[in-house]
Amino acid sequence: MKYLYCYHCGTKTISKTIDGRQRSYCERCNLPLYENPVPSVAVVITNKPGQVLLVRRNVEPGIGEWCLPGGFIEIGETPQQAAVRELKEEIGININDPQLLGIGSHLNGYYGDVLIIGFHVEIDADVKMIPGDDVSEAGFFSINDRPKLVFRVHEDFLATWVKRQENQV
Ligand SMILES: [Zn+2]
Repeated sequence: MKYLYCYHCGTKTISKTIDGRQRSYCERCNLPLYENPVPSVAVVITNKPGQVLLVRRNVEPGIGEWCLPGGFIEIGETPQQAAVRELKEEIGININDPQLLGIGSHLNGYYGDVLIIGFHVEIDADVKMIPGDDVSEAGFFSINDRPKLVFRVHEDFLATWVKRQENQV
């Protein structure tokens, strides 16, 4: 996912070793074109009985597989706002005040390196879900009887939530 052209001036870049890494470099701007992970969010949504809400993906990567709801943070959004928006878009529900659960990474994937900020929120068990275009199904599952999640980092967020529950008992 290196930059072949400078995103400031459009000049073809060269490859240069800077700070011990091979980087795209613009000789016209005298600028290394740094690459960074893309920030995104994922949300562990639970209900009072302790079930977790999962969605079945209708888009690549992992089409047909299950995962936590979430997506990329847009310009001008806080991570919390992105979580609220994604849940509205993906499953048509409104959430308030998602709480930080943890931070993880998905490296070398479909979108390159992704930084994922995990949130938790509890909602009513009888909330009406309206799956959007990115999702083919959505539903609550028991934590011990559920589909395996396609992203390792989502499994880690679930495990973090389970551990927190156990420690609170
Ligand atoms: Zn340039």
